[in-house]
Amino acid sequence: MTEVGELKKKQIAILGSTGSIGTQALQVIEEHPERYEVYALTANGKVDKLIAQARKFQPEAVVIADKNKYNLLKDALNDLPIKVYAGAEAICQIVESQPIDIVLIAMVGYAGLQPVMSAIRAHKVIALANKETLVVAGDLINELTLQHHATILPVDSEHSAIFQCLAGEMGNNIEKVILTASGGPFRTYTLEQLQSVTKVCALQHPNWKMGAKVTIDSASMMNKGFEVIEAKWLFGLKPEQIDVVVHPQSVIHSMVQFEDGSIKAQLGVPDMRLPIQYAFSYPDRQSSSFERLDFIKCGTLTFEQPDTTRFRNLALAYEAMALGGNMPCVVNAANEVAVSAFLCDEVSFLAMSDVIEKTMNKVSYIKKPSYDDYVATNAEAVRIAKEQIYNIQLIEN
Ligand code: MG
Repeated sequence: MTEVGELKKKQIAILGSTGSIGTQALQVIEEHPERYEVYALTANGKVDKLIAQARKFQPEAVVIADKNKYNLLKDALNDLPIKVYAGAEAICQIVESQPIDIVLIAMVGYAGLQPVMSAIRAHKVIALANKETLVVAGDLINELTLQHHATILPVDSEHSAIFQCLAGEMGNNIEKVILTASGGPFRTYTLEQLQSVTKVCALQHPNWKMGAKVTIDSASMMNKGFEVIEAKWLFGLKPEQIDVVVHPQSVIHSMVQFEDGSIKAQLGVPDMRLPIQYAFSYPDRQSSSFERLDFIKCGTLTFEQPDTTRFRNLALAYEAMALGGNMPCVVNAANEVAVSAFLCDEVSFLAMSDVIEKTMNKVSYIKKPSYDDYVATNAEAVRIAKEQIYNIQLIEN
């Protein structure tokens, strides 16, 4: 047996290190310095936070996507032997660095697609926290993964739960998976109440600590819609094999029902550090200091049917999954535009679904898109969604 101390430390690149997942991943690494080392950190624009992380974890390299902040970053780190780069292309290049074992994809939205593709081509183990990548181009990602014998490990808590339930079940047929949803802060709101909710209320998630985009997506249940599509690609499921159940306590993180009717569930305190650590340590488990679930304290667990009349985004995501082709890419692009407009008070909470639905109806459908088709679809859907927001504002003012 090899002692832990003799093991080679896993070299980790964190893409999106200044976000919620990135920050929690650094806590996991900090707790296990004998196992993990930060090789690279990348951020979109939060340069101050990136500087602080780089000084603390001393990676080989850092990348800031926003090129205007390169000089600031370079100057702040010039007393340290850290390579400094800028731009989206540099992020794709850094993941190919030979020493890297694991690439944690923790950036938000469509921006995750290209770095994931680079990491697959470079045969890295990918810890995938960015669900939009599989929503946008799950077929391409799966093809590429097979072709390059790459490994994608889920970090999204629901998919990590399913993945953990599937350990030791090789060759056993899945009847269905049941994704749990907290229902978000507006679970009990009427349609009328939903009409006037503000971003401040929407940003208050009852159970999970997450970034702004995913928190809004959780409130609108688009997050669950995306997770359904993500599950389809990660676990090779048919749409009818993926159920969603609202479970407000977020104690069961998701379940798998096998063909004999047996159901396995993964439970725990809602804490993203657990799925992050499982992806890093897989196939092993390792000790953690995270809070333990106390059944007596957590009390009753309840379950409800999701309501797609009040939360139309979930229905739109299912519809996009059924249509396939570039339609999930359209939904993702329209949703990114709608969420950022909502966060700027340019569109109401419920109007986000209108923007998405109208964009779905207007973008040209492609049944078997290539990578270039996805890029073009994303651009077209962004343009059309912005037009829809402009039209809504004209009507409202
Ligand atoms: Mg999730």
